[in-house]
Amino acid sequence: MISIIVPCYNEEACIDIFYKAIKDVSSNMLDKYGETMEVIFVNDGSSDRTIELVKELASKDEMIKYISFSRNFGKEAAIYAGISRSQGDYVAIMDADLQDPPALLPQMYEAVKSGEYDSAATRRVTRKGEPPIRSFFARRFYKIMNKMTRTEMVDGARDYRLMNRKFADAILSLGEYNRFSKGLFGWVGFKTKWIEFENVERSAGETKWSFWKLLVYALDGVVAFTTAPLVISVFVGFIFAFAAFVFLAFIVIRKLMFGDPVAGWASTISVILFIGGIQMLFIGIVGEYLSKTYLEVKKRPIYILDETNTEEYKINK
Ligand code: UDP
Ligand code: MG
Repeated sequence: MISIIVPCYNEEACIDIFYKAIKDVSSNMLDKYGETMEVIFVNDGSSDRTIELVKELASKDEMIKYISFSRNFGKEAAIYAGISRSQGDYVAIMDADLQDPPALLPQMYEAVKSGEYDSAATRRVTRKGEPPIRSFFARRFYKIMNKMTRTEMVDGARDYRLMNRKFADAILSLGEYNRFSKGLFGWVGFKTKWIEFENVERSAGETKWSFWKLLVYALDGVVAFTTAPLVISVFVGFIFAFAAFVFLAFIVIRKLMFGDPVAGWASTISVILFIGGIQMLFIGIVGEYLSKTYLEVKKRPIYILDETNTEEYKINK
């Protein structure tokens, strides 16, 4: 069986369109490969009619499952909940807005089924239809990120991915609270086949990601997967201390050779401000790691369940 996990946050406009598309694919998969399907909608605290629509589908079609959160916990939590409550031998994650083309599913399935790969992931090679500034920052993010961490992060990678149970169990074994899936998928290793496609625009509704939300998300990714910023701050500290030493030597020598004409108030102030600013910045970076650590040690659950018709997946059941 293949489990399809669909994180949904205020997707009432998309549910029906998505259902039709996935229904087609599922009968296709059954005919072609004899593979059944379950579709798990994870309602991430939507304030619209998403859960009503999903439950209606579930009452008519036993292929449809739902998990409903008590509030909005974010897409990462939805992915985790979906995987941990899916029963399939293969698990796929797919957005509700059809930006992840269901038509790619057979191709992904074949790659994993053959045993050659443990997961098949997708990346969009174009960012057509996206605000240019967003694309620009996204590209920078992947560049910098790949320099700073050994975990591979692929530019344009989507969360759309099909994996075998081994891969899915590995993802579940990472029980961290701050879940940056794009990194987690790379971190667990195994063999992944990359499938490329042209960006598809949303079928209906609106994106849930504002520029600000993406920026915070990117910072979360940095903190979760690399401590390079801390190392950088140590180096910058060294450079500054060294520079201060050189300046000191310069001032002493000048005083001995030329006396001491009073000058340089403005330059002094600007140096003080500059150093102060850098210090604040780095205290902020340290604070960022500390706050993530704080959230981790509290060991809060990744999500709180409201209602569901699924069961926890039991390893070795
Ligand atoms: N999503 C979610 N929780 C959130 C935000 C988004 O479950 O807090 C879901 C959303 O319903 C969609 C997927 O994550 O199925 C991707 O969101 P969206 O299409 O808004 O992002 P984009 O494709 O614009 O990056
Ligand atoms: Mg989308």
